[in-house]
Amino acid sequence: MAKYPELSWSIARHKTLMTCARKYAYHYYTSHNGWLHDIDSLSQQTYRLKKITNLEMHFGSIVHDAIERAVTHYRKTGKVPEEEKMKDFIRRGLNLAYRDSHEREYMWWRRPKDYTMLHEVYYGNNVPDEKITKIRSRLEIVLKNFFASPTFRDMLKSQETDFIESEKFRYLRIDGVKVFVVMDLLYYHFETGKWVIVDWKTGKQTDEDRNQLALYALYVKHTLPLESLNDIVVRNEYLLDGETTEYQLREEDLHQVQEIFDRSLQEMQRYMEDTEQNAPLPLTAFPMQQDERICASCNYQELCFSSGHV
Ligand code: SF4
Repeated sequence: MAKYPELSWSIARHKTLMTCARKYAYHYYTSHNGWLHDIDSLSQQTYRLKKITNLEMHFGSIVHDAIERAVTHYRKTGKVPEEEKMKDFIRRGLNLAYRDSHEREYMWWRRPKDYTMLHEVYYGNNVPDEKITKIRSRLEIVLKNFFASPTFRDMLKSQETDFIESEKFRYLRIDGVKVFVVMDLLYYHFETGKWVIVDWKTGKQTDEDRNQLALYALYVKHTLPLESLNDIVVRNEYLLDGETTEYQLREEDLHQVQEIFDRSLQEMQRYMEDTEQNAPLPLTAFPMQQDERICASCNYQELCFSSGHV
């Protein structure tokens, strides 16, 4: 059993550190080994809290699963995905999360990886009606936009495209550090001679989106025998507002990602007692967030507030 986790980097990890150093410590250090039965109770509790999700995030994750299944099924059978079947799959996933959170708390408590706990239920006892209504209407919208998306249209022209991978946990090494790259889709377009990297988004557009795609492009450039960045197109499919954003990245974009990585890694190393072993400083060295509005949406509030929540 490794005492400390292997150091890795991802945009999500970087964002967590920027949000709250204490949250970062819980998420990437204290929860380590928390899945084991013979480990201290704080690690177990933190690991359990780490696994909490919320309705919007869970919805996004099931939509990604539904799309991945549809793409894989189409590639295997040539059968075009049916909207109603995808809708059913997503609805079932949402209902299961709701039931797990309300009726199987004990099972989740014992096996947090195999059951779902919604933040709204854990810290608020129920999912507000307006959130349920919002997600219901989002379900209609995102699927309509998926079927109308340029990526879906490309998928149907199978003679013109070669799909390489659906969402998988992959990584590359930068300066010896494992950098995780969770790419939704990568395909080669024979007509244009370009590799297309696709990221499905079920949330709003953010400034980070381009950096995320630049990191994917870095991975593809490292992995495939490409002559230049011009051979890659990166694309965000915003399923909520039906917009598609495509970029032709330049070398500066990759440099910018490298700079973010360098600065972020330095910041992470400030919180290590031993950088060789990735051993963290004591928990009290990780400052807490002062804005309680941010704490209100955090999974770890029961560890930070004596009342158990904000
Ligand atoms: S509850 Fe607040 S202070 Fe505690 S980890 Fe979360 S964001 Fe940080």
